[in-house]
Parts: sequence; C-alpha cells; structure tokens
Amino acid sequence: MSKFLVSFPRSGQHLTETLLRKICSEHRVPYSYCEYYTCCKQVPCKRKALVQKNHDMDGRLAQVPTARYVVLYRKNIAAALEAYWRCQHPQGKPARGSILSPKFTHTAKTEQACVAFARQQTAYYQRFCQRWVESAPANVLPIEYDELTTAPLETMWRILHHLFPEHTFEKSVVERCIASSNVGKVNVLDAQLQQRLEQALL
Ligand SMILES: [Zn+2]
Repeated sequence: MSKFLVSFPRSGQHLTETLLRKICSEHRVPYSYCEYYTCCKQVPCKRKALVQKNHDMDGRLAQVPTARYVVLYRKNIAAALEAYWRCQHPQGKPARGSILSPKFTHTAKTEQACVAFARQQTAYYQRFCQRWVESAPANVLPIEYDELTTAPLETMWRILHHLFPEHTFEKSVVERCIASSNVGKVNVLDAQLQQRLEQALL
C-alpha cells in the first residue's frame, strides 16, 4: 500500500517524518522515507520507500483510492505563506540537528517581500487546500499544523493509525518519542504581522 505525506511547505512535514521514523523504529515497524525532491522525483518511489513526501505544487499528484495520504497544512493563509516565504529566506543557520528555522524578525523590507511572495503563492495555497482538505476523500487525513504542535500525542496517534492500520502501537512509547522531539518549540507568527498579511492578501 502506498503511503504519502503531502504537505504545504513548512507545515510540519519534517517533524512528522522524524516522529514516524522514531516511533516505527521503536515498534520494529518497517519504515523508509522518500524525500521525493532529493530522491527519485517519481511516484511511486523508484527506491521503493514505504512513505513518500510530496508538496503537490502543480496540483497533479494523483489521489489513488488504494493509497493512504496524511496531509499537513496551516489553516491560516497568512501563517502558511509567511512560513513558506521564511524557509526560502533563512536568516542565519539553524543549530546543527535542529529541525527549527532560525528565529526571524521581519523588517519593513522583508515584510514587503513576504507580501509579494504570498500574493504569488496564494493560488497554490488555495488549490492545495481545495484538493487535499476541503474535498478530501476518506483515504486522506488532513492535519492542521496547530493540532500537531498543541496536541501531538492525539495527532500522532491518528496519523499512525491512518498510515499503518495493520500495526499496533504503544501509547507510552509514542509519548516518549514525542517528549524527546522538538514538537512545541515553534516559531509563532507575530499577531500584528499576521493581520497585516491577511489584509494584504484580501
Ligand atoms: Zn524516492
């Protein structure tokens, strides 16, 4: 069975993948991951990885009825597009081994660039949410980024059962894996900036 992590960029894909790898390893559940863009750029994975990443940037990733999809996105368009812009314009380098982007403070200039980028990417965000969230079939599990960061145990539990229905998992082990991860240590978008971005995107 094909399994996919379909994500809007910077919506928790790396964090989810790191947790899946750890949890599967602890439970001796077979696991391998295709990064797609730096792996084979083929669906399904040429190297036969069990789970495959995809950002569905062109809106053409097939929704195969027999496959299972976990979809990661941010409900707020301004937060989604600001995070996407920031990952393309990193300020400094994150600490070695860290999954977090470095702390970023916007200036008037970066905010302007961010708004221009967000306007360009609005159609992509809307198409992504339309395909993978609003009209998602039953084999697609949409996960909002805030659910993952504020209720990681419940959210990872749903993800595990959606992707690996044939396996059983120990809640205490999943809890331990989450405790040793970076979940919760996230960059939070300044509320005023979020509001200005939302207005600019109207
Ligand atoms: Zn691959």
